[in-house]
Amino acid sequence: MINKEQGAIWVYASHSEGRLDPVALELLGKGRQLAELSGAVLEAVLIGDRVGGLAKELLEYGPAVVRVVDSPSLKTFSSAAYAAVLAGLAGAHRPEVLLLGADPRNAALAARAAARLGTGLSAHCVDLKFNGANLVQTVPGFGGNIMANIVCPRHRPQMATAAAGVFAAARVRTPGAVIVRESCALPRGLRTPKLQKVQVRAAAESHDLAGAKIVVAGGFGVGSKKNWELVEKLAKALGGAVGSTRPPVDQGWAKPEQMIGASGKVVKPDVYIGIGISGMMHHTAGIRGARTIVAINSDPKAPLFAMADYGIVGSVSEIVPALLAHLKAGKSLEVALKDVGWTRTEAEYKESLGRMRPNIYKFNRLIKNTAEDPATKRTVEGHAQIFAAARDPRYQDLVTTISHLSGKRISRYLSVIRSPEDMFANSKMKRLMFNLTGTCTGGRCAGWATMNAMWSTTWDMDHELGTDYHKRLKKWLLSAQERDITLSGALTDPKGHRRLAPSKQADPDMFLRIVAKRKNGIVVRGAKVMICGIAAANEVFVMPGTRLKASDADYAVSFAIPRDTPGLTIVEARHASDDRDSEEGFDNPVTQGGITQAYLFFEDVFVPKERVFMCREYNYAGEAVFRFTLPYRSAIGGCVAGQGDVMVGASMLIARANGLQEKVFRDKLVRMLINNETTFAVGLGAAVMGKPHPSGSWMPDPVLANVNKVHVATLPYETKRLTQEIAGGLAETGCIPAHRDFLDTRYGHLIQKYLKAHSPAEVRARIARLIEWLTMGPGVPGCMHGGGSPDGARMTVYAESKMDEMMELAKRIGNISDASLMGG
Ligand SMILES: Cc1cc2nc3c(=O)[nH]c(=O)nc-3n(C[C@H](O)[C@H](O)[C@H](O)COP(=O)(O)OP(=O)(O)OC[C@H]3O[C@@H](n4cnc5c(N)ncnc54)[C@H](O)[C@@H]3O)c2cc1C
Repeated sequence: MINKEQGAIWVYASHSEGRLDPVALELLGKGRQLAELSGAVLEAVLIGDRVGGLAKELLEYGPAVVRVVDSPSLKTFSSAAYAAVLAGLAGAHRPEVLLLGADPRNAALAARAAARLGTGLSAHCVDLKFNGANLVQTVPGFGGNIMANIVCPRHRPQMATAAAGVFAAARVRTPGAVIVRESCALPRGLRTPKLQKVQVRAAAESHDLAGAKIVVAGGFGVGSKKNWELVEKLAKALGGAVGSTRPPVDQGWAKPEQMIGASGKVVKPDVYIGIGISGMMHHTAGIRGARTIVAINSDPKAPLFAMADYGIVGSVSEIVPALLAHLKAGKSLEVALKDVGWTRTEAEYKESLGRMRPNIYKFNRLIKNTAEDPATKRTVEGHAQIFAAARDPRYQDLVTTISHLSGKRISRYLSVIRSPEDMFANSKMKRLMFNLTGTCTGGRCAGWATMNAMWSTTWDMDHELGTDYHKRLKKWLLSAQERDITLSGALTDPKGHRRLAPSKQADPDMFLRIVAKRKNGIVVRGAKVMICGIAAANEVFVMPGTRLKASDADYAVSFAIPRDTPGLTIVEARHASDDRDSEEGFDNPVTQGGITQAYLFFEDVFVPKERVFMCREYNYAGEAVFRFTLPYRSAIGGCVAGQGDVMVGASMLIARANGLQEKVFRDKLVRMLINNETTFAVGLGAAVMGKPHPSGSWMPDPVLANVNKVHVATLPYETKRLTQEIAGGLAETGCIPAHRDFLDTRYGHLIQKYLKAHSPAEVRARIARLIEWLTMGPGVPGCMHGGGSPDGARMTVYAESKMDEMMELAKRIGNISDASLMGG
């Protein structure tokens, strides 16, 4: 602590045009706090000509003493002359601390005064406090990546500057406060300049900035002077002020007075929108008081996202024009941000399920709300994570994309796959969702692939047959994107006698069929089976599951309907150990994820015309199924790799819980890693080797997609086996008493004692149950037969590979003629 004997805390009271600068009053506010805590006296120093009125005003802000140097020779500010006066005064009175504003005039004065006094100076402080007699001066350093605490232990006064807005002024009068007139002559040769003409230009925007309710700030990421107009337009559209980081000022896009931060202005708006701003501490020091922070940045790792309430990952030139368009259409900022930047919230998604007509049964019971019922809520929670990821800057650009139909940001699961990059994102997103949930969010991906298959198929039909299916699909898709629905897909028919075509079955309902065609729609009857994630879906997209002939025309049908459409009844299938769904504790290791499969029964369901995308065009059914398999079979490699990642992690955990190190199992772990990357990479290869369809969609390569499917039906099973091998019998047999037994007061302590290894019993049990869940429980995705059987995939590899060309290669290299082959 310092004390009165040791010296005072001085604040230099800068002023311009007859008014005290706000920063001077704010520094007095901080000085008063420091004085109260340290026992020092707070004093203000005022220099100028005819400043008596200002001296009286200063008394209202807490100093015990106001020292005034009032002289006609100090009429015009000069950093050299004022520094000489200030340093002279300080030399005479020896204050402990001297604080000044950080604006250019005060900064120049502070630097000169410090040099004259032979002391240190910390510029642009964002905090000040005492540690004993030392003033700890906090300054953002190294591009704002650290907060440096600077002290000046050997020289006095301890000098610091701080920008306007960093500290708060307090109107308080110290009893007995006095004004002391000081005389201080200018050293020889120093003259203050004589001004002949003063022209004051209003800096309108900068004036508004500090007090603005809305601030739209641009950074270096805005990219150009031309793009800077977007920042200005957005500020204008919102009635806000334009702010900037330092680089745009250096580039000449923004004015110096627009700079926000430790060396610029401090703003405290209701809403701050930072565009192309990384979020370095020097800048964020000026926005800490903002109520709501919105960050727009193409880099999901930009630090500004960490302090943002809303983050939009995207380019300036993509996001800002879209925002402007929404605002122009009369939307509020919140709605515009939402429409541009993200999709439904998890809560909105779950609420939408709660509003649906109950039509799903399990265990003889009608499920009222799939988001709440124990039989289905885990799969809903898993799907809800897609909505959470869409708002998470780390994942947003993967889980969402820009609709080519509307220019809005939408869920990727409702997009048309239009490029190899879209296909990569497909694989990566599926891997991510498996990483986040440990399993399949199948209520979305089959729907996505069916819609994409029908996107190109309807385009072909419209061009070749003159139908309007593609137009209908486009309209429906636009609305699905806007509503951000969860869409499941349904292809698999019950199929009856496997060797008989649909129309030859004893029961004609073994494949879903059209039973009536009306002016305004169609009526369908039959079933779709083994449909994944339907309990988590808002709508279901239906298409044929097989190639069809003319006699099967009634079975060539595709449409999308709400899950709760009248006439549709759904029965959930059992999954392994599903009676554990109602259990608590480690019996149920995963609460946000799980697969459900269901039977869908269509009992004369009416489908409105605008939702029908194929009606008896049997010639196109086979091709549509083929097109479904392409994105599905290439991206499923990402799914199983994502679950494989979790299995690798769980294997390492169980090894540690058992007291072993994973290096004992290194070979097995490496095998698992190779399996993961193989399926992932072959899927990516299928994407690269694909080709565009005239409808704009991208078709992955059929050979590689189907090779991947065969890998997917084999390699993950090896990974599961290796996981069980590492985990031991505990996980393989699931030989762990129930959580209820574990807690039993009579014998629970015995289970706990004998289940313990290196880790406590409960942790070991939880990891083992997770492995059981991943390798044979409800975490196992249907990768063997999902999207078609491995045998079907092998047949496609055979059919699509150019084997004749391969034979020609061998003949040419080996000098084997056709004649010699025939024995000639
Ligand atoms: C003593 C000192 C004082 C300083 N005082 C201040 C101060 O008061 N105020 C201040 O602002 N700075 C100040 N600085 C500079 C500060 O440290 C940072 O360098 C500055 O804030 C970075 O500005 P930026 O975020 O605009 O630029 P960068 O850090 O270069 O960030 C640009 C961002 O734009 C993103 N981007 C790139 N292209 C696009 C695109 N097409 N669409 C969307 N986003 C895109 C990038 O991902 C990146 O995150 C000071 C520095 C020092 C040394």
